[in-house]
Amino acid sequence: MSKPVCVISEHDFVASIADALQYVAVYHPPSFVRALAESYMAEDSPAARDAIAQILINSKMAAYGRRPICQDTGTVNVFVKIGMGARIDSTRPLSELVNDAVRRAYTNPDPLRASIIRDPLFDRTNTRDNTPAVVHFDMIAGDCVTVTVAAKGGGSENKAKFANLDPAASVADWVVQTVETLGAGWCPPGLLGIGVGGSAEKAMCMAKEALLEPIDMSELLRRGPSSKLEEMRIEIYDRVNALGVGAQGLGGLTTVVDVKIRSFPCHAASKPVGLIPQCAADRHVTFTLDGSGPAQLTPPDLSLWPDIPMGDQAKAARRVNLDALTRADVATWRAGEALLLSGRMLTGRDAAHQRLVSMIEAGEPLPIDLRDRAIYYVGPVGAAPGEVVGPAGPTTSTRMDGFTDAVLSATGLLVMIGKAERGPAAIDAIRRHGAAYLIAVGGAAYLVSKAIKSARVLAFADLGMEAIHEFVVEDMPVTVAVDASGESIHHTGPSRWRRPVITRSARRMVEEASPIP
Ligand code: SF4
Repeated sequence: MSKPVCVISEHDFVASIADALQYVAVYHPPSFVRALAESYMAEDSPAARDAIAQILINSKMAAYGRRPICQDTGTVNVFVKIGMGARIDSTRPLSELVNDAVRRAYTNPDPLRASIIRDPLFDRTNTRDNTPAVVHFDMIAGDCVTVTVAAKGGGSENKAKFANLDPAASVADWVVQTVETLGAGWCPPGLLGIGVGGSAEKAMCMAKEALLEPIDMSELLRRGPSSKLEEMRIEIYDRVNALGVGAQGLGGLTTVVDVKIRSFPCHAASKPVGLIPQCAADRHVTFTLDGSGPAQLTPPDLSLWPDIPMGDQAKAARRVNLDALTRADVATWRAGEALLLSGRMLTGRDAAHQRLVSMIEAGEPLPIDLRDRAIYYVGPVGAAPGEVVGPAGPTTSTRMDGFTDAVLSATGLLVMIGKAERGPAAIDAIRRHGAAYLIAVGGAAYLVSKAIKSARVLAFADLGMEAIHEFVVEDMPVTVAVDASGESIHHTGPSRWRRPVITRSARRMVEEASPIP
């Protein structure tokens, strides 16, 4: 007699994924919080320590307030593993069911930011409900359906890399060299997912799935490696952290809290390697459906988050009145210095910049006066009842590099605020115009939003979250990333914190030569 099939209702499948998406937007995985808290305790770089403090405080506030960790609430990635003895009771395609769940989660009364555009090539119109998701499914042994839901931020996904190495080449060397080129747009500290073998697409899928495993590097370091794969994880972890990139690329001891590797057999002539970084907005959860009802996702115990004060650097920050900005004041700011901004700032990101520059080139008058003002590169989450604005962290500034010289030249703009490094042309423009570029902490969006006291749309309302707003802020914490002399903290910070790698065998030799009494 054949075994009865475990039946999972369409309702339970859709409701569980929708709940999981709201859940991951708000709660970091406990293993990530613990790893970040350990990094905070171990960090010696004051700027990086402050950035980690902000990420942890933001994480705690998001959990308490049940609001998104980051303004980029991600591309939905769903991995569905269907047991051969289970069946989802629906005649509709699996991806349609997942998209129902995404639509429900992102247009919920507490909406998440919809970031997905319908056509990547031509008409880049937002689908407005964050559909479609990227769905992977697999038939496996068993009687249940296991689902992993992840919301992957664009900044870190943009840094994914693939290479087909020569079979004799070192994967660890390639990963370390590649991470060194990534800059800070992926919002470290985070983790690395690495897939080796299979084929090009298999390597990338393994890299993505590897990121969804619980973080256990501290435990691995304590017990020591028990396989060559674990040795490789530790080697890459040590070497990447020795690069000195640090939190937000400010220079520091921790760039990654873990390195995850998966492998698969491959052609003898190949060594495909996929590398996907995960940012500080680590968001995923796994649940199993066995036909007994929807998944029950229990929020983490709130005692998980350590009590962390705002960092010493933030306490000693220089206060800046944005309503009385002068070029002479800006010239006194130094790369690496912490500032607390109060007053009025404008917002604008890719689409607004593109439109501004088109108008400048066409000789048309601009709808806003940018002279001696600050502009914040941001696209916030919609406000919940009682909020001025939803989570409003910075977006990657390099995307604005191509517009920077034109905007600074034509408008007299003085200050830009975003995240990650600027390219050589943008830095040169900042120096020539005596302007400055500041960074807020990527992954601390809810914390940043608490500094915003009012918000109104000033121009380009049709651009939605990309419209030009005016924010009034109070004590918004930022760091000077490029000062008016053209010095960049993203160059000086990592060079200062770069250190030689002490391999475990070298460390053992030193310890054996001079045993600790
Ligand atoms: S932490 Fe940074 S990369 Fe990650 S989702 Fe937020 S802004 Fe994007």
